[in-house]
Amino acid sequence: MTIDTSGEWWVGSEPSDIAEYLRGYASEGYEVHDFRLARCKCGSTSFLLDADDDEGVARRTCTICGSEHLICDSEEFWDESEPERWVCIECDSEATNVGVGFSIYPGRGGVRWLYVGVRCSTCGVLGCFAGWKVGTSDSMDLLDKV
Ligand SMILES: [Zn+2]
Ligand SMILES: [Zn+2]
Repeated sequence: MTIDTSGEWWVGSEPSDIAEYLRGYASEGYEVHDFRLARCKCGSTSFLLDADDDEGVARRTCTICGSEHLICDSEEFWDESEPERWVCIECDSEATNVGVGFSIYPGRGGVRWLYVGVRCSTCGVLGCFAGWKVGTSDSMDLLDKV
C-alpha cells in the first residue's frame, strides 16, 4: 500500500490505506488502535455513504448489489439524524471505500471513539467523513459491525 502525500489531498492506492490515513488524522488521546474495512456480503468494497456527524450515524449502500448497512451503532440514532451524502472533494464521485478506525480503552475494555474513513473508489482521495463517541464497556462487538 502506498499513500501519495505530495498533492493537496492524501491519495491512497488501495482501500486499506484508509487505516494509515486515520492513524494520522486521529486526535491525541483518541488514537486509532484497530481498523476494519467495510465489505459487503457480495464481496464489494465500493459504497455510497450517508452520515450525520452531529448525531454520530453512518450508512453504507453497496454500489454493486444495493444492500444497505448501518455502520456500527448507527441504528440507535438513525431516525433522529439528518444524513448527508459523501461526495469526493476532488472528482465528484459518490462511490467510496469505507473503513472504520477504533480508539479502544486499555485492556480491550470497549470502544472509546470511532472514525468513519473513506477512500474515493475513482481517484483514491482519502478522508474522514464522520466520527463519534461510543464510550461504553460492552462495545467491542462494534468491530464486527463495520
Ligand atoms: Zn453488495
Ligand atoms: Zn475522487
